[in-house]
Order: sequence, then structure tokens, then C-alpha cells
Amino acid sequence: MTGSADLVDFQNPNFRIQENLSSVFKHLFSFFTGGERCVCCEKKTSFYPLCKRCLTWMLLGTENSQSCRICGKTLVSEIELCSSCRESPVIKSCDGVYPLYSYRLWKKNLLFSWKMLEKRNLSSIFSKLVYARLNELQKTLGTNLSVVPVPPRPGKIRDRGWDQIDELCRYLHRGWNVKVLKLLRRNSVTQQKKLDRVQRLETIGNAYSLVSQKRLKKIEIPETVVLVDDVLTTGSTIENCAALLKSLGVKRVLAITLFVVD
Ligand SMILES: [Zn+2]
Ligand SMILES: [Zn+2]
Repeated sequence: MTGSADLVDFQNPNFRIQENLSSVFKHLFSFFTGGERCVCCEKKTSFYPLCKRCLTWMLLGTENSQSCRICGKTLVSEIELCSSCRESPVIKSCDGVYPLYSYRLWKKNLLFSWKMLEKRNLSSIFSKLVYARLNELQKTLGTNLSVVPVPPRPGKIRDRGWDQIDELCRYLHRGWNVKVLKLLRRNSVTQQKKLDRVQRLETIGNAYSLVSQKRLKKIEIPETVVLVDDVLTTGSTIENCAALLKSLGVKRVLAITLFVVD
């Protein structure tokens, strides 16, 4: 897949206007307060959060030259499958993983700025990058796709006030009416004890579980869903989550992650 040189824009006019206004205010504010620094290269810029050069890199960076059919990691001299997926695949329940970028160099700064330094302005850019990939999948499959956010560790929102993946999915919803299905939750040790028997059987050795039956009943389960997460490392999170979704009757689980450690 090739990266386009422009960011897609939000489709919903009201949200687009609201976001554009807010970015004008941020630019004005940053202009009058002496300029912001690009979260990626730290040069002064009025194109906060990313200077023009870094944004261009980001847009051209979705090269995804040759990637593993199962886990999406970049292939070096292998064909179709990376050596770990060939020898002992971690991902068995997911039907396609599409990471946007290799987790290297300046891309590490980006994720750090977003998650740890809480540069929430990046959410809008990330949502546009994820939507571009989601939309490619929608066109290929000829159907609208719903996304399932990989849930944060318990207490994260309480501690930090927000969760990046949740926010990204909210942007997908508000910007393009993407359906967001909160089907999963992450277990803490104490929560594990509170699960009912069926849930507990499903979650042995698993950090994630399905939300309660009561909540599931209210959600219509589509044939295909797309998991959304920030970084793919071992693949076990995606595998855990995909297996749970399959147990719900989802036929095809895909995953988009911003980064892949390869
Ligand atoms: Zn920069
Ligand atoms: Zn692989």
C-alpha cells in the first residue's frame, strides 16, 4: 500500500469546522506565545504539533514495503511470512494486521509525546492516518467496518485523565461516523476474581475479556471488525483480543496499529 501525500480530512462538516477552528486558535496562541516546538524534531514551528517537514515524512512513511501476511512486520529477506510467524506464530485468530509505521527513530518520539507527554493534538493526525488505512480496507472489502479499541489498563483513565486509543476511536467516530464497538475490557488482578465462570474460562492466561453479557446484548455483532491499538510488539495483545472477538461470532478480525516493533 502506498502512502498518500495528504492527510485525509474529516468527513463530518461540523466536526471538521470545530477541529479547524480549534487548530486556528492553537496556532494563534502559539504565535503569540513565541511558537511551539514540533513534538517530533523539537524545532520551532507554527504547524504544531508537527512541523511541515515531519508531517511530510509521516505521510510518506506509510510505505509498508513488504510485510508479513500474518503480523504485518516488515520483511527483510523473507517471503510472505516473517521467520517468527513461520516458526511459532503468536497471531492465529486475527485475519490481517496492518501496522502503519515501523517503531523506529523519530516515530518513537511521536508515540512518547502522545502517550507520556500527553500531546493530545496528535490524536487528530493519528486518527486521519488510521482512517486512511481503514478506508482502504473498506474499499477492498466493499463494506463499512466497525472498530474495536484495545482497552487500556484498569485505572488508566482515572490516573491520567484519558486513554489514547479511546480518544483516537472517538475521532474516527466523530470525523467519519465509524462505529466504535467497546466489546473488550482489560482485567486487573482484582477484576479477574469478579468474572463469572464462563468469562473466567475464556480469560485464562488472558489479560483481556469480553464486556459483561448485559452490555454485549445491546451490541449488534458485525461479521468483520477492526481492532485498533498503538504498538504491535509480540502480537499477544492482538491475539488475545482477536480470539475473544472470534468467540463472540465475529467471522473476520483485522487489526490496525500505529506502529510495529520490528
Ligand atoms: Zn519537526
Ligand atoms: Zn509475522
